[in-house]
Amino acid sequence: MDVRVRALETLLTEKGYIDPAALDEVIDAYQTRIGPRNGARVVARAWVDPDFATWLRTDANAAIASLGYGGRQGEHMVALEQTDDTHHMVVCTLCSCYPWPVLGLPPTWYKSAPYRSRVVRDPHGVLADFGVALPDDIGVRVWDSTAEIRYLVIPQRPAGTDGWSEEQLARLVTRDSMIGVGLPLDPSTFDDVEVTA
Ligand code: FE
Repeated sequence: MDVRVRALETLLTEKGYIDPAALDEVIDAYQTRIGPRNGARVVARAWVDPDFATWLRTDANAAIASLGYGGRQGEHMVALEQTDDTHHMVVCTLCSCYPWPVLGLPPTWYKSAPYRSRVVRDPHGVLADFGVALPDDIGVRVWDSTAEIRYLVIPQRPAGTDGWSEEQLARLVTRDSMIGVGLPLDPSTFDDVEVTA
C-alpha cells in the first residue's frame, strides 16, 4: 500500500496535478492541529458555559466555529447531548462520514463493516465490547451520519469535577466519548486536580 501511494503521488506530482508542499500541509494539519482535542474543547466549554451549551443545541455550526473549528466534513454539525435517559451513538452505515474539524480522521474500527452493521442491530453489545455498561433502562439512539450531516456527542460532565477549569475538564473528554462508544475519563485518576465529593 505504501509503495502504491508513493507511486501515485509521484505520478500526480509529475503531471502537475498536486503540489507536494500542499500535500505536506494537509498531512501536517491532520497530524498536529486537527483531531479529537478540538472536540474535547467544545465539550469542556459546554460543560462550563450553559449559554454555549444552548448555542451548541440550537446552532452547533456557529458555536463550534466560535472556537475556531470548521471546514470540510464539518459543514452541517449536530450536537447530541447524553442524558440520564438517553445515550447517543454515531455511525456511518454507508461508509465512514465523520466530523473531521472536531474529531480528526476516523479510527479504523469506525470504518469497519462489523461496527457499521452491528451498532444499529446490537448497540448494547457494541458498547459492551468498548467496555461501557449502561443502566438497563437507558434508551440508546444510534445516529447515521450522511454525506452532509455530522454528529458530535456531548458526554455528561463527570461528577466530582466542581471547580475544574475548562482546560482540566477537556482532558477527561475522550474521542470515543464523542462518538458515543465511550465515557469520559474518571476524574479521580487525575491526581493533579482536586476532586470534590
Ligand atoms: Fe460515510
